[in-house]
Amino acid sequence: MQIENFIGGKFIAPLKKTYLENLNPATGKITSRIPSSTNEDVEMAVEAAQNALDNWSQLSIDKRIIWLRKIASALESRKEDIAALESMDTGKPIALAKRVDAARSVSNFEFFAEHAENLSELNYKMSDATNYVTRKPVGVVGLITPWNLPLYLLTWKVAPALVMGNTIVAKPSEMTPLTANLLCEILTAIDFPEGVINIVHGLGPSAGQAILEHPNIKAISFTGGTATGKIVAQIAAPMFKKLSLELGGKNATIILDDADLPTAAKGAARAAFTNSGQVCLCGSRILVADNIYDEFVPLLISEVEAMKIGNPSDENTDIGSVISSNHMEKVLSYIDLATQEGGKISTGGSTLTLPSPNSDGAFIQPTLIEGLAIDSRCATEEIFGPVASIHRFFSEDEAIEMANITQYGLAGSVWTSNPARGKSVAERIDSGILWVNTWLHRDLRTPFGGVKNSGVGREGGDWSLNFFSELSNICVKDD
Ligand code: NDP
Repeated sequence: MQIENFIGGKFIAPLKKTYLENLNPATGKITSRIPSSTNEDVEMAVEAAQNALDNWSQLSIDKRIIWLRKIASALESRKEDIAALESMDTGKPIALAKRVDAARSVSNFEFFAEHAENLSELNYKMSDATNYVTRKPVGVVGLITPWNLPLYLLTWKVAPALVMGNTIVAKPSEMTPLTANLLCEILTAIDFPEGVINIVHGLGPSAGQAILEHPNIKAISFTGGTATGKIVAQIAAPMFKKLSLELGGKNATIILDDADLPTAAKGAARAAFTNSGQVCLCGSRILVADNIYDEFVPLLISEVEAMKIGNPSDENTDIGSVISSNHMEKVLSYIDLATQEGGKISTGGSTLTLPSPNSDGAFIQPTLIEGLAIDSRCATEEIFGPVASIHRFFSEDEAIEMANITQYGLAGSVWTSNPARGKSVAERIDSGILWVNTWLHRDLRTPFGGVKNSGVGREGGDWSLNFFSELSNICVKDD
């Protein structure tokens, strides 16, 4: 299979005719060739987006909402294909791809259609004047997304950008381009206006950076690693582009001494190992109260050991491969480092060789490590794989101090039989997204984003609609 860029409503080969190989990480086999785009391709995409801007932004919001719903129902009818492609590109289990990736890609459009429909006018009355807050599109916006939740995260940005009247140049991760390409096929099938959404495939430092540097792209919404986020900010900030950065995390799962232990063990295992630990929100540091530690840890280990690692196409698989053999090497090097840092592997710790067709796949056992210092490299750096460390704490204050020790502040969860206590502990954790007795339980209206080095800005509900709008205030003095 060879895919092309999608520019001005047409599938177009990259101008330099250079392509990259795309692999299925669960088999090690090449599945497709994808454009290795350069700044000339991005230039074409920006031009197409600019040409489409007047018509799209002048369409009434009601008509744009109708388009979002058309995209949602077209995606709905291709949910099986979305899940199959996502599983093939990422190595994630097909059941997870159906339940999370395919379902959320559809609901992102449905949600933002409904949210925009209910968008209220903002007027502020003074004693002698009225303020009218108006919204205009920002213009052509650049969207750059990672490989862990490919279409889910792309559509999370595309839907609000579209509904607020912007046109788009997007670059998916070069490791997971196939569902973005499927979206383009769907747009063609429903006669979506040409040039409103343009997808340029290729590498971050070339295609991605060309998007950041283009003077006619007025806003950048980026999701990816913290180190890349720094580069994005360095380029976009001096150009005064609107900037939204959703970055890495090293999230804490806190098990308080009054938690229901079997429930907490299930929750902590799911938080640590969903998608092989490759979700920015994964709880990769499990902090356990001293007086329940010896009872809790065996329960956690047996939850983890019950997870079925296997062929991602098998409906019963819980854990598939990681994203690539390179990433597998990086994760394994952290496991090595953990033992050098004094950690003891409680379960997992090595690669797994599966039968054909997965004999060359990048499979790692879900791994739990005990005995690491809370400020060790393995306990503070984002590994972004199936590795979590377990730490003992002796007081609530110590648990909070441990949770807050890293440069990150994205997410976390607290497990307790007392929800009020859980909420007050959560309030003291420096993170943008916290759960009590649950994890990854999402209401799309709520603000989503990190503090410290986990990001700048918030996505979700009104926050996304505000990011993709220029807000002006018109103050009209009374007669
Ligand atoms: P990267 O930061 O490596 O890449 C993210 C995107 O940026 C990719 O499309 C990448 O392209 C592109 N990119 C890389 N370099 C540049 C550049 N110089 N200029 C412009 N674009 C560039 O992240 P990963 O894809 O490895 O994703 C994993 C990271 O994403 C983790 O740190 C994770 O925590 C974070 N993440 C954060 C989320 C959040 O909501 N806070 C959600 C999901 C993930 P290419 O693929 O070609 O390198």
